[in-house]
Amino acid sequence: MTSTVQLGEMSWPQVRTLLEKDPLVAVPVGAFEQHGHHLPLQVDAHLSQAVTTRAAEKASLQGRAIAVTPAVWTGYSPHHRDFPGTVTLDDTAFSAIVGQIARSLWHSGFRRIVLVNGHGGNAHLLRNLTQTLRYDHGISVAAASYWDFAVPDIADWRQSPIGGINHACEMETALVLATRPDLVDMDKARDHYLDRSRYLGADLVAGGSVTTAASFAELSETGVIGAPTLADADRGAALLEILTDRLAAFFADYAAWPKPEDLGDRS
Ligand SMILES: [Zn+2]
Repeated sequence: MTSTVQLGEMSWPQVRTLLEKDPLVAVPVGAFEQHGHHLPLQVDAHLSQAVTTRAAEKASLQGRAIAVTPAVWTGYSPHHRDFPGTVTLDDTAFSAIVGQIARSLWHSGFRRIVLVNGHGGNAHLLRNLTQTLRYDHGISVAAASYWDFAVPDIADWRQSPIGGINHACEMETALVLATRPDLVDMDKARDHYLDRSRYLGADLVAGGSVTTAASFAELSETGVIGAPTLADADRGAALLEILTDRLAAFFADYAAWPKPEDLGDRS
């Protein structure tokens, strides 16, 4: 059997063999949206795929049966659509597409499905989807954004103050520099800090207490919120190691959760 963790590189008999080992399957969930002048539209799909694949390879080396699907390339990005090139789904379509992927994997026999999100704007829909899949379809999945596992580590890693990690920021730029440097034009990177009410979140890992909806076009001329100029490839590579260690640790933990009851897909 091939040693790949990529589900798309396996034949169906290989998947059948994998399913005998109570495997995990991880679904990276991205977005297709503006990331300032210095990064391309596919950053969130690329990073969710890169982080998930590397974490799965670590888990596989630890002896865990695991597969990774291709990333869902578009997500929920209406707040970015005033910048050209952004492609968004509405909430119904997003939940339907990710939900159908989970239901198909469940139908195949996967019982440990992890949705690994790479775009903040998807997070509330994925949280909701874990509930509707369980209560409407009898399907158990876990969902998290890849940075959720490493919030204290990111606090230690960062050089920017609060506000420096939000969008096309110190973290995303460093991670793309570490994985696809050809996609980054650092000459065009400009920092932009939000200056608004303390009740509204300005940083990916330090949320505000109040939620509102605002177009990025109202918040940032370039589309950036954060401090991309602080990013470099070496620190990006170091952060990638931390993020993938933490995600691999979650995979190990999730593999030991009680196996979800086979309730079947009810519709
Ligand atoms: Zn992003």
